[in-house]
Amino acid sequence: MYTGKNMMNKLITLPNKELRKNSKRVGYADKKISKLISDMEETTLDWEDNREHEVGVALAAVQINVHKKVVIIRRDFDNKNNRSFDVYINPEISSYEGEIVKDFEGCLSVKDVYGKVPRYSRVKIKAKDINNKDVKLTAEGFLARVFQHEIDHTNGVLFVDKIKDDPDAFFTLKDSGKIEGLNDVERDKIFSILW
Ligand SMILES: [Zn+2]
Repeated sequence: MYTGKNMMNKLITLPNKELRKNSKRVGYADKKISKLISDMEETTLDWEDNREHEVGVALAAVQINVHKKVVIIRRDFDNKNNRSFDVYINPEISSYEGEIVKDFEGCLSVKDVYGKVPRYSRVKIKAKDINNKDVKLTAEGFLARVFQHEIDHTNGVLFVDKIKDDPDAFFTLKDSGKIEGLNDVERDKIFSILW
């Protein structure tokens, strides 16, 4: 359920085609970008407050229908009470490292669908911060996965697109909070929404 508390920038979900458009690089982060970031934070937390079993760990601007390369990532994945985010402007992966690991991913823009998505276990990231300063970091494990997922969003790619040819990689979130595999009927129904 979405309360519509934040009417300015509403979360968009598949099958909305805007999600598959490329976002543009930000030239200079100004007040407009600060406003965009607070809208993104509000949208993510609002979504989380209306979902019983999920945590809003990150969001890309395209998910509120703003096609700019801006990503926010939750500062503490393990503590839901920490509602602060780190901001990455024009994020890109400068190096893929480690090994490829398959693990569960969900997305605010893909309702109730989870997938086992192959991702690199370590990536080097280049971005700008909100003060237009260069940021460089190495992300590992779940954070590396989150960066790959969000940077894909800025290029119009969703996690379901990465596993399109692997029907067994798709799962759904039940009302009970359990993630379960799909039967053929559920899979056909979900696939008709995704593509
Ligand atoms: Zn997502």
